[in-house]
Amino acid sequence: MKLHEYQSKNLLKKHGVKVPEGRVAASAGDALDAAGELKGPPWVVKAQVHAGGRGKGGGVRVVQDLGQLETAAREILERPLVTPQTGPEGKTVRRVLVEEGVDIDREFYCAVLVDRAAGQPVMIFSQEGGMEIEEVAARSPEKVLRRAVEPEIGWMPFTGRSLAYSLDPLPSPEAVKNLIATLGRLYGAFEKLDCSLLEINPLVLTKTGEVLALDAKLTIDDNALFRHKDLAALDDPDEKDPLERKAAEYNLNYIRLNGNIGAMVNGAGLAMATMDVIKMAGAEPANFLDVGGGASEEMITRGFEIILEDEKVEAILINIFGGILRCDVLARGVLAAAQKTSIQVPLIVRLEGTNVEEGRRILEESDLKFLVAKDISEAARLVSSHP
Ligand code: GDP
Ligand code: MN
Repeated sequence: MKLHEYQSKNLLKKHGVKVPEGRVAASAGDALDAAGELKGPPWVVKAQVHAGGRGKGGGVRVVQDLGQLETAAREILERPLVTPQTGPEGKTVRRVLVEEGVDIDREFYCAVLVDRAAGQPVMIFSQEGGMEIEEVAARSPEKVLRRAVEPEIGWMPFTGRSLAYSLDPLPSPEAVKNLIATLGRLYGAFEKLDCSLLEINPLVLTKTGEVLALDAKLTIDDNALFRHKDLAALDDPDEKDPLERKAAEYNLNYIRLNGNIGAMVNGAGLAMATMDVIKMAGAEPANFLDVGGGASEEMITRGFEIILEDEKVEAILINIFGGILRCDVLARGVLAAAQKTSIQVPLIVRLEGTNVEEGRRILEESDLKFLVAKDISEAARLVSSHP
């Protein structure tokens, strides 16, 4: 579960990490009121969306008076924000964060994430912050430092010291001390909140030697939400793809992709294999969809509904293995579901399993245009010729 910057900063503050003082606002008027409660000018107005690179897209503006602040908030809220991470359609901005401006001396990068290969959390730190870390890694990889943290032992102060003393030039002793403390608290927040990612870019050093998280991106491990009921309430469904949101309501395992061939499959493993088949046939899957091992008529109907709402879909491949469920029962289900949702695109069906002949006959004799494949390679051939 991804969190907004303002939510992440509230949590970090509770874990002792310094962040700029700020208020969330949903309109330009609210933004003005918010500024009244904050020190300034300058203030900073920041779009709250689940996407990075906002600075480059005009979603982060430093303003010098209230007139500029109102204009910045209005402009950011009135149209979708396009950044290198949003795609050309951009993201609707529903809220802005208004913050006290910070007098920045240096910008660092700090992240904690789980290194799956090592099976350990790792802190990544660079004194080249504020820009994309991928750029730093490509240009000067020696400036991106990594420190694994042994989970059984937890954070060791020497890890923070070794990172802070890597700074060149070394800042004041006070600043170094603040940085070491902040790195430890960031790790503490990552661990206590069951994050899968904590990214602070930039982590800044101010002219007065303070260390602050100027940006914050936290992702909470979904599998740990059961023990963080308070965090689950921070979920923002508006940030999700509308089709994925609908699928979640239907209890369907659906992920939207960019291709043109919709896939309706029972079982996650078969769904993965089906996407490979579509790719090998030279087409692109429009989605991952597992309608569940049982694949009831109801689930198939809902699956069709969601696949067909994606206007990129030009054909649907139904790949179902009738194990527990017999193929004839399933074919009737597919038929009933297809009749309920008006389908304009070709349907390619590959059925296998118990009572498969009966199942194929039902589909072939129906008045809907099913292209029934006898096996997966024929299904692939049909996919590559449709559309
Ligand atoms: P991102 O582009 O989505 O990662 O948004 P950030 O929160 O990282 O903001 C982008 C950049 O805006 C930062 O790297 C800073 O250089 C700048 N910025 C953000 N807040 C302030 C601030 O309070 N004062 C100043 N001077 N610059 C800021
Ligand atoms: Mn940033």
